[in-house]
Amino acid sequence: MEIEIATIGGYEEVGRQMTAVRAGTDIVIFDMGLNLSKVLIHDNLRTEGMHSLDLIDMGAIPDDRIMSDLEGDVKAIVPTHGHLDHIGAISKLAHRYDAPVVASPFTIELVKGELADEQKFDSGNDLVKMDAGETMSIGDSGKVELEFVNVTHSIIDAINPVLHTPEGAIVYGLDKRMDHTPVIGDPIDMKRFREIGREGEGVLCYIEDCTNANKKGRTQSERVAREHLRDVLYSVEDYDGGIVATTFSSHIARVKSLVEFAKDIGRQPVLLGRSMEQYSGTAERMGFAEFPDDLGMFGHRNSVDRTFERIMNEGKEDYLPVVTGHQGEPRAMLTRMGRGETPYELDDGDKVVFSAGIIPEPTNEGQRYQAEKLLGMQGARIYSDIHVSGHLRQEGHYEMLDALQPQHVIPAHQNMKGFSGYVDLASNQGYKLGRDLHVTCNGNLIQLV
Ligand SMILES: [Zn+2]
Repeated sequence: MEIEIATIGGYEEVGRQMTAVRAGTDIVIFDMGLNLSKVLIHDNLRTEGMHSLDLIDMGAIPDDRIMSDLEGDVKAIVPTHGHLDHIGAISKLAHRYDAPVVASPFTIELVKGELADEQKFDSGNDLVKMDAGETMSIGDSGKVELEFVNVTHSIIDAINPVLHTPEGAIVYGLDKRMDHTPVIGDPIDMKRFREIGREGEGVLCYIEDCTNANKKGRTQSERVAREHLRDVLYSVEDYDGGIVATTFSSHIARVKSLVEFAKDIGRQPVLLGRSMEQYSGTAERMGFAEFPDDLGMFGHRNSVDRTFERIMNEGKEDYLPVVTGHQGEPRAMLTRMGRGETPYELDDGDKVVFSAGIIPEPTNEGQRYQAEKLLGMQGARIYSDIHVSGHLRQEGHYEMLDALQPQHVIPAHQNMKGFSGYVDLASNQGYKLGRDLHVTCNGNLIQLV
C-alpha cells in the first residue's frame, strides 16, 4: 500500500498545524489550525466573515491547495485537541472535504463553538466523538484503522491519533508532555505507545511536536505548576488588597487550581472574560471539572464590568478575579485593567499572578512586556511564569523514540531553528537526515512507501 504524507501547515511556525496522511486511496487529515499571531498583528481584525483564501495569503490558516496533489479521498478530519492552532481553521477549510470531523468529546464541543461563530462558510461535516483507547475503521479496504491514544497536554481530553496501515503505524505526536500525575484526567498512555512500537509492522512514521526540542531535560508535571501556584497564593494570604490572576482560559486544570487556592486563602474566585466562561463552562457541563456552586463565570463585557463594580463596592480583599490576558493581548481583560479601562482599580502593592509562560513569539513578547509595564505603572506587583509547558523537552523526545522505534521521523510544530535540537537528538539515535529523518516545510509531499 502506498503511504504518503503531506506536510501542509505548522512546519515553518508554531501555529496553523495541518498534516494529511494517504494510505492507499484513503486520506486522513490531522489538525486544521490557526496561526493566531498572524491575526492579532492586525488591529481589530475579525476573521469570522473572512474568506479562506485571504486568510491563507496572510499565513493565518494552512494552504491546503496541495491536497489536490494527493490521489485519494479524505475520510476523516482529526484534530488532536482543542487549542486554536489545531482547530482554528476547521470553520474555514473543513467544508471543502466530504468527511466527518473525528475528535475527543471536549475537542468536538470546542469545534462546535468555532463552527457556530463562523459567518462566511456553512460546514456540513458530521462531528463524531471518539474517546482515547477507541478505534475506527477508515475507508472500505478494511485494512486502515484510526486509534486514539491518551496523552497529557495543557488542555484536557488531548489524544495522539495513530493510523494503522498494512505498512505499519503512522503516529501523529502533536501536542503533548509526558505527565504521570496530571491534575485532571488520566496519565499519558506510554504502555500503549510501547505496544504500538512492537506489534505488527511496528511504527512506519512518527510525526513529532518539536515546540521544546531545543530544551534539555524533561517537562515537569502539572502537579509541579499546581504546587508552585499554591506556594505563591498562600504566601499572600494575609494581604488585604487586590489579587488578580490570569492563565490560559483553555487550561482547565490550572483554572481549577486557581479556584481552589483562592478559596483556601479566603477569597471568592470569579472567572471573567468570554473565553474563560466558554472553556470552563463547557468543561463543567461535560463533567471534566467540578467547580464550587457559587463560582461566578462572566463573559459579556457588561456583566464583567458589573462584577468589577461589585468587587470594588464589597472590597477587593474578598475576591480573586481570574481573567484573560496572560499574553498581554491588547483587548483582553488584564490589559484593559492595566490601562485603567475597567471599574477594578489597582492600588500600590496589589498582586498580579501570571500562571502562564510567554509564548516565544515576538508579538506576544512585546504585548506581554507592555501589559506588565502598564500594570506596574498602576502599582501592581507581578508574579510571572508560574507555569509548566505542555510540550515535551529532549528527554521526553528520547523516551518517545525509544517507545515507538519508528522507521521514519518527521519533526513538526516549529520552524527550522526550532527543529535543530530534534535533528541532533534523532541523529544521535541513528536517524539520518534525508534518509529516515525528514526535515521539511509547509506544502511538501513525502512518499514513504
Ligand atoms: Zn496544544
